[in-house]
Amino acid sequence: MSKILVSACLLGCKVRYDGNDLPVDNDAFTKVIAAHEIISFCPEVAGGLSTPRIAAEICGGVGSDVLEGKAKIMGKDGSDVTAPFIKGAQLALQICQENNIKRAILTESSPSCGSGTIYNGKFAGDKIKGQGVTCAILEKHGIKVVSQYGAAEFIN
Ligand code: SF4
Repeated sequence: MSKILVSACLLGCKVRYDGNDLPVDNDAFTKVIAAHEIISFCPEVAGGLSTPRIAAEICGGVGSDVLEGKAKIMGKDGSDVTAPFIKGAQLALQICQENNIKRAILTESSPSCGSGTIYNGKFAGDKIKGQGVTCAILEKHGIKVVSQYGAAEFIN
């Protein structure tokens, strides 16, 4: 049974910035979870952030830009939370490498976990195409990432 890394908030863990989880209503997701060994992980909590925490968005780029020092992750209160986000991303990669994990299902639109979209850094609810910082570091190292909406890709 192969292992898949999954965002903890998709598995009922109340680790989101607002103190909630994010229930998934998707048959493919449920099937994939049942058929694999699941490693639950929240990069932001692993990186040292508390729950609940201030909402944060990538400002001035996407996840790969943050990894290259070209963009920052800012809290809505103006705090710079780039360092704990990068630490959490690095820990996610470490877990994948230690466990020979090649696939991940991460929460769409998160500044850490987003794989197709992220918020645009203006805290107005608008999204752009791009990856969060954890998704970016995993894909850079050959780990395939889909969102909770794309879990069907991992059924076989
Ligand atoms: S960092 Fe990822 S796992 Fe943690 S709450 Fe945000 S979306 Fe969920």
